[in-house]
Amino acid sequence: MAGEPQADCLFCKIVAGEVPATIVRETATTVAFRDINPQAPTHVLIIPKVHHPDAAALAAAEPQVVADILCEARKVAAEDGVEETGYRVVFNTGSGAGQTVFHAHLHVLGGRGLQWPPG
Ligand code: AMP
Ligand code: ZN
Repeated sequence: MAGEPQADCLFCKIVAGEVPATIVRETATTVAFRDINPQAPTHVLIIPKVHHPDAAALAAAEPQVVADILCEARKVAAEDGVEETGYRVVFNTGSGAGQTVFHAHLHVLGGRGLQWPPG
C-alpha cells in the first residue's frame, strides 16, 4: 500500500537502518543522507520516511511532507556552506528523467558551478 514500507525498496531500508548511509539530518518525517555517487561537492538526498514512488505521488498523498523536504534542503545547504553560493534541488521523476530509485527523493547539489539547462 502507498506509504507503507516496501520490502524491496533501498531507501525504505535506509529509513529502517537496514542499509547503511551517511545520514546528515533526520526529522520526524524525513531523512537526509549523502549520495553514494556524488555529482558535486555537496550531493545530499532528502527522502520522506513514508514510501511513495516519486515526488508527484508524494505530493498527491502527503503534501506537507513535500514542504518538510524543501525546508530540510535549506538546512542541508546551510550546514554544508552552500546556501550563499547557491544550490540546486531536483526531483527526477520517471526513468526518462533519470530516476533510478523509485522512492521519492530530492537531490541537493552545490559546491561547484552548475550548468543551466541541465543535461
Ligand atoms: P535518481 O537517479 O534520481 O533516482 O537518484 C538515485 C540516487 O541514489 C543516485 O544519485 C545514486 O547515486 C543514489 N544512491 C543509490 N544507492 C545509494 C545508497 N545506498 N546510498 C546513497 N545513495 C545511493
Ligand atoms: Zn521506499
